[in-house]
Amino acid sequence: MNLPAYRFSPWLLLVMVLLAPACLKAETAKFAWLEDVGAALSIDEVKALPERRWQVFDPANVLNLGFSDGSFWLKVSVPPDPENRLLEISYPLLDEVSVFWVRQGDVVQAHRTGDRRAFSSRPVPHRHFVFLVPSNAEAVTAYVRVKTQGSVQIPVRIVPSEQFLAEEQLSYGWQAVFLGIMVAMALYNFFVFLIVRHPTYLWYVLTVLAAAMVWLNFNGLLFQWLWPDMPILNRYFTAPIISLNIVFASMFTMSFLSLRRVSPLAFRLFQGVIALAVFTFLLGLFGSYQTSTIVVSAFGVIVTPLAWFVGLWVWRQGQILAGFYVLAWTPLLLGHLVLAVSKLGYLPSTFVTDFAPQFGVALEVILLSFALAYRINLERQRRQAAQEHALAVQLHATQTLETRVQERTEELERANEQLKAISVTDGLTQVANRRRFDERLVVEWNRACRQNHPLSLLMLDIDHFKQVNDQLGHLVGDDCLVSVARLCASEIQRSGDLLARYGGEEFSVLLPATPRQGARSVAERLRTIIAENPVYPGDGSSPVKLTVSIGVATMTPANGTGPEALIRRADEALYQAKESGRNRVVEWLSSSVCSDPAPEKPGQSR
Ligand code: GH3
Ligand code: MG
Ligand code: MG
Repeated sequence: MNLPAYRFSPWLLLVMVLLAPACLKAETAKFAWLEDVGAALSIDEVKALPERRWQVFDPANVLNLGFSDGSFWLKVSVPPDPENRLLEISYPLLDEVSVFWVRQGDVVQAHRTGDRRAFSSRPVPHRHFVFLVPSNAEAVTAYVRVKTQGSVQIPVRIVPSEQFLAEEQLSYGWQAVFLGIMVAMALYNFFVFLIVRHPTYLWYVLTVLAAAMVWLNFNGLLFQWLWPDMPILNRYFTAPIISLNIVFASMFTMSFLSLRRVSPLAFRLFQGVIALAVFTFLLGLFGSYQTSTIVVSAFGVIVTPLAWFVGLWVWRQGQILAGFYVLAWTPLLLGHLVLAVSKLGYLPSTFVTDFAPQFGVALEVILLSFALAYRINLERQRRQAAQEHALAVQLHATQTLETRVQERTEELERANEQLKAISVTDGLTQVANRRRFDERLVVEWNRACRQNHPLSLLMLDIDHFKQVNDQLGHLVGDDCLVSVARLCASEIQRSGDLLARYGGEEFSVLLPATPRQGARSVAERLRTIIAENPVYPGDGSSPVKLTVSIGVATMTPANGTGPEALIRRADEALYQAKESGRNRVVEWLSSSVCSDPAPEKPGQSR
């Protein structure tokens, strides 16, 4: 082997590692095994056993003997070789490993170690079981006794020391890379958890830490680093840490995929998985090591693809994050598959096949961390969309409110106008009431005063109305009032003229800018139309003939006078009309203006 060349070529080294089993001097060292069912044989008895009791095996395929209460013996015959060599058993979870080196029939060296003995019991302080071949000059035989409650896997080889060292650099480097990735991802996501406070991140961190522990434990590194003097811990560690890993990974899955909402069935499934994992955790602590190891291994084999399928299912239901989950879970699954296939002997056991699941875990952890980062982005987008929606809703609400307020204001204004109209309208006849008349009288009086226009007023009183009421009833009387008002309104059509019910059966008509003659003719028209149109009461009784008496007054107002004079004069004229026989128009005749208080006799017309 050209040492300097391979030192500068890591690729060549990788190829060598891949092809390591082929490079072994398998044709020189011979490997055989037997099972000591009662675990009772001593080294002397084993040495003395006939050759036919031994089964020859090829160390390129890992000796995988399942679970057993007995012990197993390996016989490794090592021929002489000038190169220094090592015997390595690269599965660190074996409870007891004893190696007896025999030269020329005598035991020349014996080592008793295993993961139930302190780390210092190992002749070479290494995470695997490593023993120096004691002789280069003579053939030696190693009798290796293995007894374990766990899985009996004995990956054994005789390897030149230099090759072992070179491979070890690579292997240890990759372990460091693995640990680095796990710690970095755990730390980063722990910080994210501290900030966003979402449980998914915490479950992720715990899953990553547990997975790191599982693999460092499998590689014997935890024992070497953390509790080399407390081998008893090894017995309580493997099954519980795998169980915890399953619990955390399940919690993470449920939280990350929002299973409770997305798929209640898958949610319940994972609840079941967690319950089982808690059970295997307790079994690992309080039950038999062998049973718990078998149960937890089987459990892990089922749960890993199960999680993958659930992810796939949720993904197909349209959840984007589940896609990341499936993507992340795939290398893990493949890694485990490669390991299983190599353990079953279908692939040669090399560093790459052994490291495959760790590579899968690291890749999974990285991809999930990316998915979690993406999740932050999704959350941000979701929050932004929600904010925009809330803003739009608020805007809409404000607009609606404004429209409502406007509508209500208009309604109120309309109602006010109605109220105002009602307050100035006579309820029975629907013409202006007394209040409206009084207001308008003042306004028109002042206007006439300003413009020096004449202002006329008619006072109209129904003749003998008391009799109508007394003889035909008040309801007919009311109909008469309504009818008289309607007839008058039909005649008072000039804008600015005002017909009002002055009180009882009296009406007043204000005629701005109207001289005497005009007022008189209006009064005459009113008198005539009423006299000519009998009232047909609503109850269908016979028509009622009515007449009215009208007093007319006209004044051109001057400053310093009030409208009372106009009313008084119209009243006086009305009185005259009644006095002189009713059904007639009497005009208050005077050429004087309102400043002239001296009354003259009213004139009559018929
Ligand atoms: P004259 O010709 O002198 O005016 O006789 P008259 O009966 O009309 O007498 P007067 O004006 O004093 O009578 C007013 C009557 O009008 C009293 C009341 O019976 C009637 N009256 C007043 N207001 C109403 C009303 O709102 N409805 C009805 N049905 N009758 C009213
Ligand atoms: Mg009257
Ligand atoms: Mg009357």
